[in-house]
Amino acid sequence: MNLSIIGTGYVGLVTGACFAKLGHTITCVDIDLEKIQKINNGVPPIYEEGLDGILSTCKDKITATTDYKNALLNSDVTFLCVGTPSLKNGTMDLSYLKEATKQIAAVLKNKNRWHLVVVKSTVLPGTTQDIVLPLLQQNSGKKVGTDIGLAMNPEFLKEGVAIRDFLQPDRIVIGSYDERSRTTLRELYKDFSCPIVETSLSAAEMIKYASNTFLATKISFINEIGNLCKKLKIDTYEVAKGMGLDSRIGRPFLDSGIGWGGSCFPKDVDALIAWAKEIKEPARIIESAKAVNTDQPLRLVEILKKHIPRLKGKTIGILGLAFKPNTDDIRESRAIPIVKELLRNGACIKAYDPQAMDNFKNLYPTIEYCSSASEVLSADAVLITTKWKEFATLDYQGKIVIDGRRLEQAKNAKIYEGVCW
Ligand code: NAD
Repeated sequence: MNLSIIGTGYVGLVTGACFAKLGHTITCVDIDLEKIQKINNGVPPIYEEGLDGILSTCKDKITATTDYKNALLNSDVTFLCVGTPSLKNGTMDLSYLKEATKQIAAVLKNKNRWHLVVVKSTVLPGTTQDIVLPLLQQNSGKKVGTDIGLAMNPEFLKEGVAIRDFLQPDRIVIGSYDERSRTTLRELYKDFSCPIVETSLSAAEMIKYASNTFLATKISFINEIGNLCKKLKIDTYEVAKGMGLDSRIGRPFLDSGIGWGGSCFPKDVDALIAWAKEIKEPARIIESAKAVNTDQPLRLVEILKKHIPRLKGKTIGILGLAFKPNTDDIRESRAIPIVKELLRNGACIKAYDPQAMDNFKNLYPTIEYCSSASEVLSADAVLITTKWKEFATLDYQGKIVIDGRRLEQAKNAKIYEGVCW
C-alpha cells in the first residue's frame, strides 16, 4: 500500500520505517525541516535501535516532505502521529492534531478517490469522533464514512525497543468508524501474527489510556511496596519475584526504583486525571499513582543526604539522564527533579548519559557533562538514575553510590544504598 505518515517523531518515524520494511511505500510529513532532510538522507533524527539500518536499506521506500498535498495524493491511507502533549493544567494539547487534520482535509477536498485517515496519536475517548471527524468534514466538504474513512489505531510501542514492539506487538487495536476503514486496516496488518482487537473509535482510545495508566499504577504500586520493604529491611526484588510468578500479576513493571517518566505515562496519567475530573468521575487510584511517582525520585536525594548531610559545594555525579535506557528521550526523566533538587541544595553536578546529554543540555546548559561514565565516578557521591548497560562495567569500589535503578554491579561500592533496598 501507499501510506503517508503525519508527524515523524518516535511513533511516526518508527511506523513509517516498519511499514517500509514490510514492503509498503511511505511518505513522511513533518513541519520540522531538519527532520525531513535527515530522513531523506537515511539518517534517523532520533536514536532508536535498528532505525538507522531500516532507513538506509529502505531508502527507496521512504521519502519525507513538508508538503501535505504531495503526501496525501500519493497515498491511500494516512496515519496521524503528531504529538498530544499536556497543557499546564494536565489536559491534552490538541493543537497539533487539529492543525494536521485541517491540512489533511484541505488536500482531500480536491482528491477524487476514497482516502483513509487513521489516528495513531494517543487521544482521549471521544476525540476522533468529536474533533477529528467534524474537522475533516468541515474542511474537505466531504462525508466521513463514504468519501473519507476514519479509524483509531493506538500505538503501544516502547521507546528503546520500538522497532521490535511495532513489528511484534502483543495485540493490534483497530477502532473504526465504518466497515471499509476496518477492512483496509485488517488488510494492512494481515501478516502480523498477534491478536487483532476490533472496536469502536472510543473503545480504541480508552484501551490505550487504560493500558498506560495501569502500567504506571503498577510501577507506583511496587514503589510503594519497595518503600515499605526498605523500612522493614525486606528485599523488594525478592518480593517482586515471588509476586510476579503469579500469572494474574506477571513480573514486568515490578522493578521498584525512582519511578516512571517519558513522553507517555506522565502526560497520559495527567490527561486521564483531568478528563475524569471534568466528567465528575475522579480517578482516585491514578491520582495516587501520580503522587507516589512525584515523591519517588526525591527519596534518592533524601538518602544521599543521610550520607552527605550538607550538599552545598559537594560534587554529585549523575549516571543517566534519559528517562530509560536505549533512548535519547529525556521527557519527564526522573533525572530532572533530582538535578533540580540537588541544585536547590547548592550541589555541583557532573552528569553522563550515552545518548541523552544533548537533549539534557537544552534544559540544564550549565551543569558539567562528562565525556565518559567513569569520569562521573570522581564526584563526592554518585546517583544511578538510568540503567544503561555500560554502567554495569564501572568500578564502584571506594565510592558512595545511591542507586535508583538496582544496578547489582554497584553494590561493591564503599557505601551503597538503593532507593527501595
Ligand atoms: P514526537 O513529539 O516525538 O513527534 C511528533 C512529531 O509531529 C514532531 O516531529 C513534530 O514536528 C510533528 N508535527 C507537529 N505538528 C505537525 C503538523 N501539523 N504536521 C506535521 N507534523 C507535525 O511525538 P511521539 O513521541 O512520536 O508521539 C506521537 C503520539 O504518539 C503522541 O500522541 C504520543 O502520546 C503517542 N505515543 C507515543 C509513544 C512513545 O513512546 N513516544 C508510544 C505510543 C504512543
